[in-house]
Amino acid sequence: MYAVTKRIDFCYGHRLLDYEGVCRHPHGHNAVAEIEIQADALDARNMVMDFGDMKRSIKGWIDSELDHRMILRRDDPLVASLQALGEPVYLLESNPTVERIARLIFDVAHECGLAVSCVTVWETPTSWATYRA
Ligand SMILES: [Zn+2]
Repeated sequence: MYAVTKRIDFCYGHRLLDYEGVCRHPHGHNAVAEIEIQADALDARNMVMDFGDMKRSIKGWIDSELDHRMILRRDDPLVASLQALGEPVYLLESNPTVERIARLIFDVAHECGLAVSCVTVWETPTSWATYRA
């Protein structure tokens, strides 16, 4: 089995509802997403996938939908205020933990047609979450 991984850096803000820790307050992260693509065999170019194709598809989506946005639970009272101010938000049905964001990126990569096997999102240099197929 071959695998290639694309690293994508992005910034996001969030907060966790129904949570007692410090992350209940709005704050931001300089995140790193690692998207792994697997293949049993290489293509005619001797590649699992061209990194440029990964950049155009999943990096394009992260840049336009998650980068420099607040990622919030849909029922977060902050949502209405931010939207009224014209601030960009990305809404999830559940708490925007790093685990949930890893799953989100995995699902979008899959919808983009990528043979994604694993997505890891680093929230800090010492904390990360992984979602695997
Ligand atoms: Zn956080």
